Amino acid sequence: MASVEAPAAESQALWSGYLFTILWIDLVPLWIEPLTGHLMHHRTFRNGTFAALILTVLAMLPPPAWAVWREKTEAIMGTRIYVEVWADDAAKGDAAIAAVMADMTRIDELMSHYKPESQLSRINARAAQEPVQVDPELFNLIKRSLYFSKITDGAFDITYASVGHLYNFPEHIRPTEAQIKSALPAVDYRNLLLDPVHYTVRFEHPGMRIDLGGIGKGYAVDHGIDILKARGIQHAVVTAGGDTRIIGDHMGRPWVVGIRHPDDKNKVVTRIPLIDTAMSTSGDYERYFDENGIRYHHIIDPHTGHSASKVRSATILGPTATETDGMSKTAFVLGPQKALEIINRFPQYDAVFVCPDGKVLYSNGLQPPDKVAAPTAPSARGQR
Ligand code: ADP
Ligand code: MG
Repeated sequence: MASVEAPAAESQALWSGYLFTILWIDLVPLWIEPLTGHLMHHRTFRNGTFAALILTVLAMLPPPAWAVWREKTEAIMGTRIYVEVWADDAAKGDAAIAAVMADMTRIDELMSHYKPESQLSRINARAAQEPVQVDPELFNLIKRSLYFSKITDGAFDITYASVGHLYNFPEHIRPTEAQIKSALPAVDYRNLLLDPVHYTVRFEHPGMRIDLGGIGKGYAVDHGIDILKARGIQHAVVTAGGDTRIIGDHMGRPWVVGIRHPDDKNKVVTRIPLIDTAMSTSGDYERYFDENGIRYHHIIDPHTGHSASKVRSATILGPTATETDGMSKTAFVLGPQKALEIINRFPQYDAVFVCPDGKVLYSNGLQPPDKVAAPTAPSARGQR
């Protein structure tokens, strides 16, 4: 059972207004102590002349490579990408981070619904008329999206875009009731037909559209982690917007991730220590505008075509970011109780929901802060 930490008594500085902050970035160069200790006790080191000779030789050698933390932030997929790795040396770390960033750009070009030349845009343009063949990678993510529709009773539905495309949050544009009514029949994941033999996608309803904004970033994060692991990296964090995955720990301690207050990006509702976990947070404060006291935001109820507002934020913990991303919209649409029922059915997932009245709800696998005697890590696996 994992534990969460008590809310911060005062404001915490968060990363550039996003959902969380990672603390304990105290990069003590641990190699100093063992190395110095060893030399000081070595017999030959008591001889001043010999020591001076060694030091002279050492000074002439090229500087040794030390394991280091490296990090980088970029804007890709319309969001903030952050990668931090513990690598054998700086060059290896930077190369690994660059490989993850390049892969994020590749995924965006394949799956973005904003880019007219992407395969996803080709689906939206033609799949109502004929089956459209796509890369197995895109096909498989669409297939996984249908799985999340099934386990969330349709709360997660990539065909939401049939009505979702009528919203433009930065420009404060929303559809009229008449527009919603005419677009809504095209929203239904059961009308998305996949042929696994030919890797084709077909829409069984005119006017249908899909977008992977609710799962693509989680997928890209997982792919980034796979790239890092293939390069031998064992301690890292990859974040894309609200989706994060952590491998390993941070200098023998867990990473600590804060869930922000929905109305104040400088306040933390709760903090969770994490090792080897993925985490996605969805919030009604990310893409939105307020009009006549009503918040219009980017998570859409596929059954009504309106913004789904049964919670203010939902955080899901799980093994991969594709899964946590796919699950993080559920509570907005179905409400926190029904979403907790679903989450509690799956031992691999946990959840923290911030309700409209400010209450914070936790799934069965998490201990609320008042039941935790002292802040502890959920597990100390992988500690060095
Ligand atoms: P982020 O983009 O920061 O990862 P979320 O994970 O909360 O944010 O995903 C929100 C995005 O999911 C929306 O911008 C939209 O593209 C998509 N979306 C909105 N409603 C739904 C829904 N009911 N089912 C699937 N995807 C949705
Ligand atoms: Mg997400």
